[in-house]
Amino acid sequence: MKRILVTGGAGFVGSHLCERLLNEGNEIICLDNYFTGSKRNIEHLMDHHYFELVRHDITNPYMAEVDEIYNLACPASPVHYQHNPIKTVKTSVMGAINMLGLAKRVGAKILQASTSEVYGDPAVHPQPESYWGNVNPIGLRSCYDEGKRCAETLFMDYHNQNDVDVKIIRIFNTYGPKMHPQDGRVVSNFIVQALNGDDITIFGNGTQTRSFQYVDDLVEGMHRMMNSRDGFVGPVNIGNPIEFTMLELAKEVIDLTNSNSKITFLPLPQDDPLQRQPNISLAKKELDGWEPKVHLKEGLGHTIKYFDKLLKGI
Ligand code: NAD
Ligand code: UDP
Repeated sequence: MKRILVTGGAGFVGSHLCERLLNEGNEIICLDNYFTGSKRNIEHLMDHHYFELVRHDITNPYMAEVDEIYNLACPASPVHYQHNPIKTVKTSVMGAINMLGLAKRVGAKILQASTSEVYGDPAVHPQPESYWGNVNPIGLRSCYDEGKRCAETLFMDYHNQNDVDVKIIRIFNTYGPKMHPQDGRVVSNFIVQALNGDDITIFGNGTQTRSFQYVDDLVEGMHRMMNSRDGFVGPVNIGNPIEFTMLELAKEVIDLTNSNSKITFLPLPQDDPLQRQPNISLAKKELDGWEPKVHLKEGLGHTIKYFDKLLKGI
């Protein structure tokens, strides 16, 4: 049995990860400040003997004897990370320093949940890990993009300078049950709008693309990365390479929900990337042939069911 710290464990991805690690027989410390996460996401785990919940903000140091750390604490939706951009930078940068310091002190292995946002609005398509990105350092998205880039730098520096056992994954757009209904990201927005019969809000003309990964595929990739061979640090892309336009996504959601919602077009936010698709050759090679298994239609089906119950209060 390992003792594993999951920061951001009450969030969308973190709650799925806690459940998986707990089911494997590990002891879990789930740490969260509930900025975008919620106890509701992990309430089914609360009575478990080996599950512990800690309210804590990772911009402050935290001490615990652990074997592994998954560092997920950070708001991921543009609406939320732009709400208090200075805090977002602090969470990424000071949070990384605090968690890396902890890993160094107790000799824990630590995985960083980085992001495809490190590629910015990419000029290289699809994006391999060797691409350094095209990021605006002073725009609305910079607090998140540059915060995550700096966190990657810190992970590499603690590894090179202090021999900390680090693993870095770059996560591409991920969706699934337990996203917050007001999260603001595109999949949850479209589903909630379609189920409520509200207009579907497409930003821009809807030709921008994203590649959507179902959460189970991400959790599998994270787990394989944490347990990958010694010396393999990454960064490694974890995402689904099948690319869709936002217009295609909207139509698929309307179809699957049988909704009468109409599509409405709103202005494109500043620095919104035009395209995004992961090159996953490295993940396949290093992570035992890992690749996404869940097709968009199937993943949307599970997610729609979740939101339908949530909105009906079931
Ligand atoms: P989320 O917002 O649902 O979860 C983030 C969690 O971190 C929340 O529970 C929040 O309360 C907590 N948190 C935020 N700031 C904190 C702080 N200072 N101290 C302690 N806890 C804090 O987002 P998510 O989609 O579950 O994302 C999890 C991680 O994966 C994030 O680091 C995000 O950047 C990364 N990521 C996610 C995606 C995606 O598409 N879901 C894509 C790329 C990267
Ligand atoms: N988007 C949209 N309508 C919404 C929310 C988002 O058209 O209600 C667009 C957004 O402009 C972006 C894409 O969907 O082009 C993905 O947005 P999201 O916030 O989910 O993730 P990110 O931009 O960080 O990839």
